[in-house]
Amino acid sequence: MAATFIATHNLEILLDHLRQHGDLYGPVRGDDGAVRFAPLLPGTAPDLAALRTLLPAKKYLLHPCETILNFTADAGYQLPIEVVSPSILFGLHPCDLAGISYLDQLFLGDEPDPLYAARRSSLTLIGISCTPDDYCTCYRTPSPLAAQSDLFLQSVDGGFVVTSGSPRGDELVESVKNILVECDLSVPEDTRRFFCAPLSQRHLPETDETDPEWQELADGCLGCGACSVCCPTCACFDVLEFGGLDDVSALRVRRWDNCLFKSHSQVAGGVSFCKDRAERFRYRYRHKYRGFGALEGVPACVGCGRCRVVCPAGLDLRPLAERLDGGAP
Ligand code: SF4
Ligand code: SF4
Repeated sequence: MAATFIATHNLEILLDHLRQHGDLYGPVRGDDGAVRFAPLLPGTAPDLAALRTLLPAKKYLLHPCETILNFTADAGYQLPIEVVSPSILFGLHPCDLAGISYLDQLFLGDEPDPLYAARRSSLTLIGISCTPDDYCTCYRTPSPLAAQSDLFLQSVDGGFVVTSGSPRGDELVESVKNILVECDLSVPEDTRRFFCAPLSQRHLPETDETDPEWQELADGCLGCGACSVCCPTCACFDVLEFGGLDDVSALRVRRWDNCLFKSHSQVAGGVSFCKDRAERFRYRYRHKYRGFGALEGVPACVGCGRCRVVCPAGLDLRPLAERLDGGAP
């Protein structure tokens, strides 16, 4: 499908149209000055100048705390009945899209997670270009993750070049063609930076736990977990079961957990597989820059910069990763 152009003054018409297709969410600045993905109700303008939201879009796919199974004596364990209505996320930056792509690999693999799968299939993704600041590393983070979206809006003078990335995107373009004009503007090559072209998988070397730089970083970590909460690709969770007072029913609940927390690595018998802070810090490093498990070799850092913005100790893993990688990529 040829690229089309939408003028900035027609954006509100596009948003009105999108509202007819489902619940519309986008970056909204609150009274506290923080930008969050929130409902884009009529009259609420998305904050397109904001570079990053407090929490990434993962909150829509993996709820912070949710029931994953109900138990009754008669029926045994049953999936909760969740009515998932069509939703549209507007204003996702390439790193946000790459983060969703990573979560898709985690939760839609061989054994798809039913709750995630239902929400994902009802979600339309609309990306938008941005200009990185000093906290972003997307432009120098090689990644095999694709920044896929149904529609992508590249900012140009006076508006946006709109490109479709799926049949759903084609339908949306077709349905708003009265406010689009065909154009031969090409989307600049670096629009989605590294996420445009999948790169080969790579393996950063293991960290040497005696490396002084490594130790210095780990010593500075407060273990607050903020970097993990705000990371688009951190998806560790804990599973808890709560028995009902009737003694014959129960709820199984999944809630976000955090590899920087001591409790995360504690298992039955009081054993811990990451017993001190340095080990927990290394664990996070491995996940972000090497990948592990089924996604070994797929770095999970999409370069959004959130962890660097929120860390109260001002820690940044990137210089260590770049040094181990033989210099900045
Ligand atoms: S590690 Fe930091 S910069 Fe990388 S994706 Fe996570 S929050 Fe963003
Ligand atoms: S935000 Fe900083 S201090 Fe808190 S757990 Fe992460 S690295 Fe440690």
